[in-house]
Amino acid sequence: MPAATLYIVATPIGNLEDMTYRAVRILGEIDLIAAEDTRHSLKLLSHFGISKSMTSYFDHNQQFKGERILNTLRQGKSVALISDAGTPCVSDPGYQLVRDAVAEGIAVVPIPGACAAVAALSASGLPSDSFTFAGFPPSRQGKRRTFLVEMAALPGTLLLYEAPHRLEETLRDIREVLGERQVVVARELTKIFEELLRGTVTDVLESVSQGKVRGEVVVLIAPGEKTVPESVSLEDTLRQLMQDGTLSVKDAAKKAAEITGVSRSEAYSAALKLKEGAIL
Ligand code: SAM
Repeated sequence: MPAATLYIVATPIGNLEDMTYRAVRILGEIDLIAAEDTRHSLKLLSHFGISKSMTSYFDHNQQFKGERILNTLRQGKSVALISDAGTPCVSDPGYQLVRDAVAEGIAVVPIPGACAAVAALSASGLPSDSFTFAGFPPSRQGKRRTFLVEMAALPGTLLLYEAPHRLEETLRDIREVLGERQVVVARELTKIFEELLRGTVTDVLESVSQGKVRGEVVVLIAPGEKTVPESVSLEDTLRQLMQDGTLSVKDAAKKAAEITGVSRSEAYSAALKLKEGAIL
């Protein structure tokens, strides 16, 4: 094995049989494992008979720990990064470490395996030739709606991660902003209560509001119609984009023009009117 290599190792998202032979071998061979939660990963490692030095690497110690991990790599040692479940760097820590290792010319090697988004897409029955993975939507409703407005004109299937307690409100916002699209809620993938709820947003909301959805979920949204639905008219789009005041009039107009297909100048003048309170 070449020295000074950073391995990005995917681990199961529920079912331990999804651990790959290669992941087990690499974790057994390297010098140090950097794990999101060392206690959590210890269970996985002991299941596979792996005993290794471990260090924690999570959201709030990334800067300080990243430097220490890079030092280990600089000494010619090899390190594996794992997260609590699935593929590191996919809505999990890792990006900064990979970026810094790449900048120093350190070899970075992916060890592929489970990823909830890809597993969900593969079994969803929604178009998979083109898709956008957008991670977790914002938790506050205003920002979440703006985020969805920005996604409205994207081609292909849209994939989101969501906390189970926010699923219902997020589905309601999806219906409000994107319209009555086909969706799939993939829950507890690879686990005992695995389930894929398919249908229109309203169909799936019915199951969700009856309290049937618990556990981890991926939300998949089918592409919209080519024509811009009424729910993403220029004024509505601008309202959504400008409501929390983070975007300038120019940037909001630019985005609104992309989403609705109107010219930038038309979007800009509508945005100015909205800003001046001419449109309520
Ligand atoms: N890095 C992970 C991956 O590769 O999928 C994702 C980590 S992210 C912090 C956790 C989110 O992934 C959960 O909130 C849920 O949206 C999704 N997720 C993880 N495991 C899942 C599962 N077994 N079934 C459905 N969704 C899952």
